[in-house]
Amino acid sequence: MTGQTPFLDTSIEFLKGIGPERAKLLRSELHIRTYGDLLHHFPFRYVDRTQFVTVADVRSEEMDVQLRGRIMSVQLVGAKGKGQRLVAQFNDGSGAMDLVWFKGIQWVMPKLTIGREYVIYGKPSKFKSSYNMVHPELDTIEAQQNKVSATMVPVYPTSVKAAEKGMDSKGISRVMQLLVSQMNNHVPETLSTDFRTQYGLMGREHAFIHVHFPKGPNELRHAIFRLKFDELFFIQLKLLKLKLINQKKFQGAVFAEVGEMIHRFYNDCLPFELTGAQKRVIKEIRRDLGSGIQMNRLVQGDVGSGKTIVALMSMLLAIDNGFQAALMAPTEILAEQHFRSIRTLVEPLDINIRLLTGSTKTAQRNIIHEELMSGALQVLIGTHALIEDVVQFKQLGLVVVDEQHRFGVQQRAKLWLKGSDAQKVPHFLIMTATPIPRTLAMTVYGDLDTSVIDELPPGRKPIKTLHRFDSARIKVFDFMRDEIAKGRQIYVVYPLIDESEKMDYKDLNDGYESIVREFPLPQFQVSILHGRMKAEDKEFEMQRFKKGITHIMVSTTVIEVGVDVPNASVMVIESAERFGLSQLHQLRGRVGRGAEQSFCILMTGYALSQEARTRMETMVRTNDGFEIAEVDMKLRGPGDIQGTQQSGTPVFRISNLAKDGDILQLARNAAIALLQDDPELEKRDNYPTRIHLLSEMKDRPNWARVS
Ligand code: ADP
Ligand code: MG
Repeated sequence: MTGQTPFLDTSIEFLKGIGPERAKLLRSELHIRTYGDLLHHFPFRYVDRTQFVTVADVRSEEMDVQLRGRIMSVQLVGAKGKGQRLVAQFNDGSGAMDLVWFKGIQWVMPKLTIGREYVIYGKPSKFKSSYNMVHPELDTIEAQQNKVSATMVPVYPTSVKAAEKGMDSKGISRVMQLLVSQMNNHVPETLSTDFRTQYGLMGREHAFIHVHFPKGPNELRHAIFRLKFDELFFIQLKLLKLKLINQKKFQGAVFAEVGEMIHRFYNDCLPFELTGAQKRVIKEIRRDLGSGIQMNRLVQGDVGSGKTIVALMSMLLAIDNGFQAALMAPTEILAEQHFRSIRTLVEPLDINIRLLTGSTKTAQRNIIHEELMSGALQVLIGTHALIEDVVQFKQLGLVVVDEQHRFGVQQRAKLWLKGSDAQKVPHFLIMTATPIPRTLAMTVYGDLDTSVIDELPPGRKPIKTLHRFDSARIKVFDFMRDEIAKGRQIYVVYPLIDESEKMDYKDLNDGYESIVREFPLPQFQVSILHGRMKAEDKEFEMQRFKKGITHIMVSTTVIEVGVDVPNASVMVIESAERFGLSQLHQLRGRVGRGAEQSFCILMTGYALSQEARTRMETMVRTNDGFEIAEVDMKLRGPGDIQGTQQSGTPVFRISNLAKDGDILQLARNAAIALLQDDPELEKRDNYPTRIHLLSEMKDRPNWARVS
């Protein structure tokens, strides 16, 4: 009936014993369409059926429990057909509990013998002040001891509707049992015997059997290890393979020459000594750029670590070798800031640099387009206006993308096409101040090389972070006055989750009013900045703040990324509980850029969720962006981590990146080793691996980054 269909791809309705109703339910409710889907429907926990609790111990409805005790009485309550139920009193010496049946009464009743010892298992439900158990699983002591499943019982995720129609955890388990009993050697192995021996991996079919029906904790551990390894290994293999393919297909321009620009910049323009980390990363980039292979490098460095100079020196290298360079920033403010600071830094070098944003006037735009085509324009800085089709370069050699998490993969791909030659695509340097947990970086950016600037420029004092409740506001105002008296400037930030949210603007405006009342003219200058303002008004307020005219800048998160005002040393974050960890960390990075002691004050109400509390505590405890990213991933799961949403984080069915870092590292190393030994996977032993990889690459188009 299934013809040539591979076992795992067989439609679930062909499973003997399942019936069309259940097959339909599995499909519509749990998205289980094939045998493979069913096998990948993993238990989310196991109940250890060797453990018993006592009636006196039962205090919640949350967990299924197992008890052993005697039936003391059996009673039929109510009239037949009108909510009749069977109630048995169960007692284990510590206390009594009613066992209740509404269905199958005729079938259960004969099994209940007063005075006999039973094992019962099920979910307690609270009734008045005590617990009872509805439809418990019930076995005599003797029968229970002979059961195979007496040790680890899988608990499956399901939906309310599926559970109501018989596909509760137990129902799923029964269907799984059907499948497993018909499996006998139909699940193909994807890894060679040698490979499995090397990494201590159980066979694939066995792993599926034992993850659903473990004989004991040891088998279960091995099964889970194999399945997690598989999941992570094939993702790595895919990423590394894509990288190999790209390297073959595309060449990068060779920037062999360290020429005049770099030399003159280094000798005449560089206003400070580079940090060790900056030097190291520049060296890594130079090696890439000289190699002839197209560079795709991610530079992670905390806010203030000095990524701009690294980008600039890479662009100078492009110019020295006769290529054009582009720098793309996520907002106009940032693009303008980059434009100004870079223009100032390279002033003596006489480089043609221009700015292109949404607000660039047509006349200026036309000049830019012409100069780009003629090659007269060497550096173009801008926003996503850069990726519009009309923007074409004569010879684009390098693209720097700042704060990558605002740009999607497609946008990156569009920039690939701007090189003059289809085989030669520009080098990519992607800079982010949002550190990504190591495990996530390996997965989401597994096809990129990464560099980390893990050192701040000298003389920076670590930012002191405090958590204060709203009731302490008067003291916070006093503190702000003191700091202003010392000549410092202050940011006060309000959450603006949704630009269209009227409430948020009200918060912002109310906050502004109260700050203005506390810090009146003429002694104090307070300004307000938010995303709804016109670009020129924003710019006007930014400049006033930069020049030190304004003491306090009340704003939304438009100042989040990259704004650099070294004299601003205090950041007050209002309703801090409404921000995510990485956003708080980004915001905090706006201060601590000068030589003075900087402060970040997190204001919240008293009522905080456990998670919000953890966020505040983490911010107070550490300034380390990587540590914060790890906590963030534990709190929210890998799918929600900033910096990855647009890149298509794969859906993990069994692995957890927050916990399985070691397995991931092992899987990645194994994939590297395998491809080194057999890049095309053409050895006979690797044939099954290759087949599986190909099917995975076909199934998940979001992984194909290169069009
Ligand atoms: P980010 O990594 O956040 O983009 P920037 O490149 O904006 O950081 O640098 C932050 C500040 O540190 C800037 O004012 C910059 O001039 C300064 N800076 C960068 N590198 C150094 C260095 N090696 N020594 C001293 N100051 C530096
Ligand atoms: Mg920056």
